[in-house]
Amino acid sequence: MALQFKNTLTGKKEEFTPIEPGMVRMYTCGPTVYNYAHIGNFRTFMFEDLLRRYLLYKGYKVTQVMNITDIDDKIIRNSQKQGKKLREFTDPYTDAFFEDLDTLGIERAEIYPRATEHIDEMVAMIKTLADRGLAYEIDGNYYFKISAFNDYGKLAKLDLASLKPGARVASDEYEKESVSDFALWKAWDEKDGEIFWETEIGKGRPGWHLECSAMSMKYLGEHFDIHTGGVDNVFPHHENEIAQSEGCTGHQFVNYWLHAEHLIVEGKKMSKSLGNYFNLRDLMDKGYSGMAVRYVLLATHYRQQLNFTFHGLDAAAKALERYNDFIRNLESYDGGESDGSAGEIVETARSRFEEQLDDDLNISGALGAVFDLIRDINRLKADGKLSADEAESALELIRRFDTVLGFEMQQAGIEEEIEELIRQRTEARKNKDFATADKIRDELLSRGIVLEDTPQGVIWKRKV
Ligand code: AMP
Ligand code: ZN
Repeated sequence: MALQFKNTLTGKKEEFTPIEPGMVRMYTCGPTVYNYAHIGNFRTFMFEDLLRRYLLYKGYKVTQVMNITDIDDKIIRNSQKQGKKLREFTDPYTDAFFEDLDTLGIERAEIYPRATEHIDEMVAMIKTLADRGLAYEIDGNYYFKISAFNDYGKLAKLDLASLKPGARVASDEYEKESVSDFALWKAWDEKDGEIFWETEIGKGRPGWHLECSAMSMKYLGEHFDIHTGGVDNVFPHHENEIAQSEGCTGHQFVNYWLHAEHLIVEGKKMSKSLGNYFNLRDLMDKGYSGMAVRYVLLATHYRQQLNFTFHGLDAAAKALERYNDFIRNLESYDGGESDGSAGEIVETARSRFEEQLDDDLNISGALGAVFDLIRDINRLKADGKLSADEAESALELIRRFDTVLGFEMQQAGIEEEIEELIRQRTEARKNKDFATADKIRDELLSRGIVLEDTPQGVIWKRKV
């Protein structure tokens, strides 16, 4: 079976064919850096990591662009509340975002453009849209005229019959009930204070939707393969992106639109008032590992709602332990007498894993194949029926799977550093410097390393 994706644009599962053979160009809407990203945001970013990694597994070259939204209504409000300049306010959250990606083992995209560094490209688009009769100006504000763009509503399947002609919305985010002309450019207003750009079309700042059209086309071309986000992006954000981009170029913008369903917490919408709102750092503070969070965020099909629970995190830690033990034990396995069955087990696992992921990234099916492989090979090993060569091919396969899953806890390299810290701690304890000893233990713990004092000395384990 060939790789297939459910395309929001057509509502169908379709075979994936890139525009340029062997090459995938994709745009993934990134974070708005006015706060730490929450685990719902990371659900979507994790789905995009799976998509990226599986495309690479299939042998495609991938160019992924993820924008950093560093200007919008919320950012302006919050930076002003704190009396900070725009970058002074957004930079720490941008840095935190990249740290969180690392904690979760999310691979880096090729390009992370910032909205505030692409104002010229956005202004050029507004001018083109105005020339084509698709944008108009009122008091220095520019709006997209949706009645002039025939295809408006094709992504979100809007019924435009009830449209009130000429109704306008200035805010970046709004509901389906307010389908209307939307802001491309917002003229400077006193409450914007220091935040504005002097441009050919006046003094002001861009609306949110425009940045993704301008930056995706700059780095990926006017027509590219895949565009993704969470379901809340379908309308208005992605609908507006299509209108702006296709309005400018006169031809198709993106071939495949993929959207991740939302994450909910213990069955409820995540919200500050319910006290069930978590960013990644909250979970780290509770003692969970980035890898366990990765597992939970990855393991549910992206088009199903993900019900995040603490029970699920504990179960993920167990599954990760089983997965990593499997790899470690195969590495140190001496070999036994083959009964000839391992070859088929390995081949079945490989084809099931690929079949499932080819089917619109069915990760739960793929994980089923992985854990069946672990169970069957472990059984052969326990019975002494697995040869060293067969163990090697099982190991090779799981390492290949791991290029997609990213669940293997790397031990090499940092081992020496950990051993050195343990030596320093032992030394400190000898000198009755318990403060230093505790500090070293806590530092290791914050990196997910647990120490155990045994009669043979101190041993360390990775917390899962
Ligand atoms: P934002 O920083 O608000 O622009 O959101 C970044 C990404 O996270 C977007 O693709 C959103 O669709 C997505 N997102 C927001 N909330 C959730 C949620 N609860 N579950 C999954 N994805 C979400
Ligand atoms: Zn976007």
